[in-house]
Amino acid sequence: MNIHEYQAKQVLAKYGVPVLKGGVAYTPEEAAKAAQELDGPVFVVKSQIHAGGRGKGTFKEAAAGDKGGVRVVKSVDEVAENAKQMLGHTLVTHQSGPEGKQVKRVYIEDGCDIKRELYLSLLVDRATSSVTVMASTEGGMDIEEVAAETPEKLFFQSIDPATGVSGFHCRNVAFALGLEGKQVGAFVKLMSALYTCFVDTDCSMLEINPLVVTGAGAVIPLDCKMNFDSNALYRHPDLMDYRDEDEEDPMELEASKHDLNYIKLDGAIGCMVNGAGLAMATMDIIKLKGGSPANFLDVGGGATKERVTAAFKIILSDPNVEGILVNIFGGIMRCDVIAEGVIAAAKEVSLNVPLVVRLEGTNVELGKKIMAESGLPIIAADNLADAAEKVVKAVKEAS
Ligand code: ADP
Ligand code: MG
Repeated sequence: MNIHEYQAKQVLAKYGVPVLKGGVAYTPEEAAKAAQELDGPVFVVKSQIHAGGRGKGTFKEAAAGDKGGVRVVKSVDEVAENAKQMLGHTLVTHQSGPEGKQVKRVYIEDGCDIKRELYLSLLVDRATSSVTVMASTEGGMDIEEVAAETPEKLFFQSIDPATGVSGFHCRNVAFALGLEGKQVGAFVKLMSALYTCFVDTDCSMLEINPLVVTGAGAVIPLDCKMNFDSNALYRHPDLMDYRDEDEEDPMELEASKHDLNYIKLDGAIGCMVNGAGLAMATMDIIKLKGGSPANFLDVGGGATKERVTAAFKIILSDPNVEGILVNIFGGIMRCDVIAEGVIAAAKEVSLNVPLVVRLEGTNVELGKKIMAESGLPIIAADNLADAAEKVVKAVKEAS
């Protein structure tokens, strides 16, 4: 789960990380009010969407002006004016996808006297089974670009979860960032707090870009992105309140309501599979046979008729889907029950694309018989390779 910048800063503040004063606003009036609470005379109006690169982003609508999604202004009136321009309009950044994201809230923050912009992030590093801190003197830039063009400007410090963070780790990073004097002590405190926050909240990614050194020598995060491990969210009801469903893919949101693991992809073959491993293998084999999966979907072990129907509806609501492959291994579930579910779902949602079904496992013969006698134009397949071949062929013939 992702959260907004202003929410991430609220989380950081709880761990003693110094952040600038600011307030969130849903209307231009609220924006002006939020600005009045700040010190001024410089304010920053920041679009809150779940995508980075807002500063360099562009709005789709001319009414939003051409100054990007992060704007430095010098009066309360200008705060309200720029908030009005951003709110309700669609911001396109290099991370938002070409369709962009509608700005529904803005964050009004104190302006900062920036002397240096640095980069700092914490990640779960599977290769070393540790939390890795990644740092660079090239802050404010797209870090992927830094990694591709000047990888020597990235510094890595891994922290063993068994020992936790120590002053030594933090000083290593501080020196790599070229911090000096009092900045080093401030940074040690900041990085220790970030590490504690990261572990406590079951973060999978915490990125601060830029981390700035101010004219007065303070070290503070100006931007913050946090991503949490969704499987651990039940431990953090307070974080769950930060969930913004407007920012989620509508199909993925619908799927999560039915306990379906669904990830939208950009191919043409919708997949309905039980078990994550089998779902991955199904996507691979579709590729191998020259097709491209429209989604990953694991309906789980106990797929009921209702769940199968919901899954079908979600797959079919994707306009890119030109064919469906159902690949179910009846282990705990019996194939005849699944066949009945598939048939009921296909009838209910008025299926208009080719449907290939491969069943294997308990009661498979009965399942196949039910399919064959259903009167629906279901293409039966004997094994995974056969099923993938058939669906790719059916899609080609239909188009
Ligand atoms: P994004 O990464 O989505 O573009 P940032 O929050 O990093 O958004 O803002 C982009 C740039 O705007 C920053 O690199 C920084 O130069 C400037 N900026 C952001 N917040 C402030 C602030 N409070 N005061 C002054 N400048 C800021
Ligand atoms: Mg940023």
